[in-house]
Amino acid sequence: MRVEGPETKIARDLLAHYDVHARRLPWRAPPGTNAADPYRVWLSEVMLQQTTVAAVGPYFARFTERWPDVAALAAADDADLMAAWAGLGYYARARNLLACARAVARDHGGRFPDTEAGLRALPGVGAYTAAAVAAIAFGRRAVVVDANVERVVARLFAIATPLPAARPAIRDAADRITPDARAGDFAQAMMDLGATVCTPRNPACGICPLRSDCAAFATADPAIFPVRPAKRAKPHRTGHGWWIERDGHVWLVRRPDTGLLGGMRGLPSSDWGDAPDATPPVAADWRTLADPVRHVFTHFSLSLTMHHAHVGDDVTPDGAGEWWPVARIGDAGLPTLFARAAQAVRREQDARN
Ligand code: SF4
Repeated sequence: MRVEGPETKIARDLLAHYDVHARRLPWRAPPGTNAADPYRVWLSEVMLQQTTVAAVGPYFARFTERWPDVAALAAADDADLMAAWAGLGYYARARNLLACARAVARDHGGRFPDTEAGLRALPGVGAYTAAAVAAIAFGRRAVVVDANVERVVARLFAIATPLPAARPAIRDAADRITPDARAGDFAQAMMDLGATVCTPRNPACGICPLRSDCAAFATADPAIFPVRPAKRAKPHRTGHGWWIERDGHVWLVRRPDTGLLGGMRGLPSSDWGDAPDATPPVAADWRTLADPVRHVFTHFSLSLTMHHAHVGDDVTPDGAGEWWPVARIGDAGLPTLFARAAQAVRREQDARN
């Protein structure tokens, strides 16, 4: 008689739990099927990187209504897509999305490659996304490790090495417990367990289907895994932004394609650093908001001091840009930093009037 090892048992117990408790998500096929649309799986996986399921939901609905398949997305206008992405953050993902859709349409006849290696060769598709799409859309055995899976695996095996050095061991352990069959369901079941049961701060071990095989459960505090490295404070930067208003319109620029918020519309701003250049883009009677607009990016926090002024009909700032109707500023697809800066200026203007 073949004796079942703990790794096989983990997969079996988890899949049995998933069959009953799988989250219903708009990009998913029901447990036990491999019928998920690769386009929807890929789109959701790109959107979900660094973003919650709750935040992605409305974006996914809007994108798939407007661009129902990869051919439609490949034909999208760059600026339209960037505007539709506004608010989801990490804007390089949106540029990669477009590059990938165009490669699938142009080089693969509109069909996603069905192997991990084929997917990995697409522009902007990293190891994680390739594994996730290969497993979930095509039922390929692939080792899928996102932040949720990383946490669950680190706890199952009580991996004491701090992140990020622990990643190879976590991946090896994830490989050992990934079954040959139903690899897509297994990946999604791990994601669900991490999102709903094995949560970062208060894992609900009492209802966890894996607790009999979990090494962290046997310790006093399962939540200490994965072990975090000592935190370093984020550097802080400052900058200046300008709201230039002319006859009911505000001057918006398009940010350079490369770099932070690349390709997005924005308000004109200085460089962001320790001593940013406060020279305004045009001469005007400038007013300055008392409180800077604060925003936290991945690698630094920013205080943006906002200045605002009305200018005459004959004034246009140097460089590329457009006069955008102030009443429709909500439709400009501004990234969160500039959307908040615009709100702050308009609140101050309203208070003065
Ligand atoms: Fe996470 Fe607790 Fe389940 Fe272990 S028993 S996998 S720590 S929820």
